[in-house]
Amino acid sequence: MRPFTATISIDEARRRLAEAVRPIDRTETLPITDAAGRVVAVDVLATSHVPPFDRSLMDGYAVIAAATAGATRETPVRLEIVERIYTGQSPTAAIGAGQCAEIATGAPLPVGADAVVMVEESAMDGDSSVRLFTTVAAGQNIGRRGADLSPADVVVRRGDVLNPSRIGALAAIGATAIDVFVKPRVAVTSTGNEIVRPGDPRTPSQIYDVNQFTLGAIVAAHGGVPEIHDAAPDTLVDLEEALDRCADADVILFSGGSSVGERDLMVDLVRQRGQMIFHGIAVKPGKPTLFARIGDAAFFGMPGNPTSCLSNAYILLVPFLRATARLPIEAPRIVRVPLGRRIVSQAGRHQFYTVRLEDGTAMPAFKGSGDITSMSRADGYIEIPADQSTVEEGTTLSVTLF
Ligand code: AMP
Ligand code: MG
Repeated sequence: MRPFTATISIDEARRRLAEAVRPIDRTETLPITDAAGRVVAVDVLATSHVPPFDRSLMDGYAVIAAATAGATRETPVRLEIVERIYTGQSPTAAIGAGQCAEIATGAPLPVGADAVVMVEESAMDGDSSVRLFTTVAAGQNIGRRGADLSPADVVVRRGDVLNPSRIGALAAIGATAIDVFVKPRVAVTSTGNEIVRPGDPRTPSQIYDVNQFTLGAIVAAHGGVPEIHDAAPDTLVDLEEALDRCADADVILFSGGSSVGERDLMVDLVRQRGQMIFHGIAVKPGKPTLFARIGDAAFFGMPGNPTSCLSNAYILLVPFLRATARLPIEAPRIVRVPLGRRIVSQAGRHQFYTVRLEDGTAMPAFKGSGDITSMSRADGYIEIPADQSTVEEGTTLSVTLF
């Protein structure tokens, strides 16, 4: 056994991780249909007007505004209809004195017209003329060419996340493809002689791999591409081979073997191959977590215990991954509720304690660091500071939801 010489605080771990982030620089070009949720790599400027022509914002009549002066229900103005302009059609005639054109929403405004009277303010007068019941001002009910975007306007900026409206803005300028940052490649390897992939045969002393799946799901949900590798047995040689298989990764996640038992070889691996940035955090669960730089990759040695592993994935890995992927920090979703039952916590370590929401109270859900149901049956967690050992029933708490 090689005991932890010193643990660092959760805040110090966060600080070192933030400092170690290397945001992805590689880019790729994607069809806009495949770009939802991706991060824009270059400013995109409009090269044309949106809309490309002055258009009607209403179904109605394109008029010379001055011609409607004094029009009311009692004193309508009568105008001759020179043509009917539907969407997708170009007007063929200019509007002159005493004239108008019937026009559809989105259709191009004819030359001469400078306003539209909505159809509700009109009545046909025979086949080819109309009575208008209201006065319009120049510009009324018209969408000007370029009102949405004009050439050289920024459509999307480098760093913008492509939400549906930004993909829409790209479509509006006729873009079919967009340069985005690639997603970080994140290698995921479980370690331990006892770890077997679900579906594979196992001996009575083996267990199914959980961390591969929780970590894979976290990575995929936060902008990375998980690359899942076979579990590695507990020898340094096997771990080195497993590490060699991660050569292309931006971020490498190993789980297990990060503690201080004789077979906890992660420390030796990092010592051989990289530079340790921290090992051991004063946090519960998840104390045996290490972070290192190995070559160009960031290396996380996550705890083997499934709840410790996933808890630290939420707290430490997610912000790191998002920053690497250039995604914005997610604002935590927090509810304030009273605690339904007293909790006793271990002093000296900042605790992330899982709770279930039941009838407007937070009920303890934490069983043990090794039990995935500590999390799978919880709705979120509360934080209990290192210097606090009990939380009394009835205390109002902030629950951070998963
Ligand atoms: P370790 O960190 O390797 O000492 O493992 C701590 C505990 O977590 C042990 O009980 C392991 O069997 C268990 N464990 C390690 N890795 C996994 C995994 N990928 N899935 C499920 N349990 C694991
Ligand atoms: Mg192990």
